[in-house]
Amino acid sequence: MSLQEILAESIQHLEADGQLVQNALRLRAIRVGAIKAAGDLTGIKAAYHDEVTRILIDYFESKGPITVQRNEFWRAAANALGASFNLGWVDGGGGDIISDDDALDWYNARLEAEFGYINTLFQEARELRGEDDFDYFQWITSKADGYTRTTREFYNAGLLRASKDIMVTFMGNDGAESCDECQMLKDQRHRVSWFVRRNFVPPHGTGLSCHRGRYCQHYLQSDKGERITA
Ligand SMILES: [Zn+2]
Ligand SMILES: [Zn+2]
Repeated sequence: MSLQEILAESIQHLEADGQLVQNALRLRAIRVGAIKAAGDLTGIKAAYHDEVTRILIDYFESKGPITVQRNEFWRAAANALGASFNLGWVDGGGGDIISDDDALDWYNARLEAEFGYINTLFQEARELRGEDDFDYFQWITSKADGYTRTTREFYNAGLLRASKDIMVTFMGNDGAESCDECQMLKDQRHRVSWFVRRNFVPPHGTGLSCHRGRYCQHYLQSDKGERITA
């Protein structure tokens, strides 16, 4: 059996038991192709969007407990966000294996947080499912848009952690809404690690007040004028 087959089989067993596969194993599995991921970031996001939409419709059209669809959403998130993080790591020149402990620690903590948000989403969905005439398609679409936007955050995180610690500048338009931190950081030039350590990586860094909103249009740019975050 190839490594790919062994991983694919192990994952099937673990998932059959209703367990979530360990994050590091899943990352590795995505890397060697045992878990299929759509090629580029746009493809990963689109596939994740389809899956989230399908899972949430299933929930609203069922009468069952949240467990089945919540676990499906968790698995879809781990796959899509793991694939995004991997892709960023590769694009950032990090090489085959994510060997950096800080990178893996960030990934694990951030994915756990995402699982928490997904759990909260289902508490809300359970309330709404009990209401008469609730237009859940519109609700689902807006939730799917929001949740799948995190693919970009994971991509950027992988990319920046793999990248050489070059000098970059905080750039971009303010857009319709902005926050105090973005205003402070505009045009500031520092090493990549300076932004990463402070969680100031736009548009999703948790140190930016606008990080859970949808309005930040800022990004980091290298001295060569290349935009280095997606
Ligand atoms: Zn901001
Ligand atoms: Zn911003």
